[in-house]
Amino acid sequence: MTEFDIDQALALVAEAVRPYPPAALFQLADEGYHTPFEQLIACIISIRTYDEVTIPASRHLFAQARTPQQMAALTPQQIAQLIQASTFAERKAGQIHAIAQTLTAEYQNQLPCDRELILSFHGVGPKCANLTLGIACGQPAISVDTHVHRITNRWGYVHTNSPEQTMTALEAKLPPKYWLEINRLLVPFGKHICQPRVPRCTACPLFTICPRLGVRSYR
Ligand code: SF4
Repeated sequence: MTEFDIDQALALVAEAVRPYPPAALFQLADEGYHTPFEQLIACIISIRTYDEVTIPASRHLFAQARTPQQMAALTPQQIAQLIQASTFAERKAGQIHAIAQTLTAEYQNQLPCDRELILSFHGVGPKCANLTLGIACGQPAISVDTHVHRITNRWGYVHTNSPEQTMTALEAKLPPKYWLEINRLLVPFGKHICQPRVPRCTACPLFTICPRLGVRSYR
């Protein structure tokens, strides 16, 4: 079997997603919310939350506080109210407030581009750490969410059972120039074309090169 051509696939995906809005964190970065702190906070808000909710909730919060010091000056209850449309708003508000307090007290009111520090915060996993490092810090980091995991397996580019395994597999074979790009491209592609249950394969520009592994029915 010939190896899946990732260069060709990602070029086709880039064309296919052009009409759709970018994923939440990229959209917010385009709007100017591109500091490591803002990206991390937006990513926490985005956990188990649709982009259509994450984007306005983040804007709402950042209208009141954009730095750790400003955020720490709010109460967790005020933060929860500002992001209330997001899933688990109260729990996230507590995490956001605690992060802001630590950064204000110990890191000169800034979030450094330090992977270990970012991962040490309660409620922050590799996906948010890598998106923050990739978008705000320009560091090569792969962020694997459910879309990236599902689609790269359908392509047969990786053969894995969890997003964590996919991240490790991609780190071993994906060219670094695509490390940030793969998340930017596959999130809208997964939302609009290679959808979870019944993908739109007949409308997909990858139809002739995709083995559609694990796809039981498509339209
Ligand atoms: S052909 Fe189907 S399974 Fe393959 S990438 Fe396109 S939509 Fe996804």
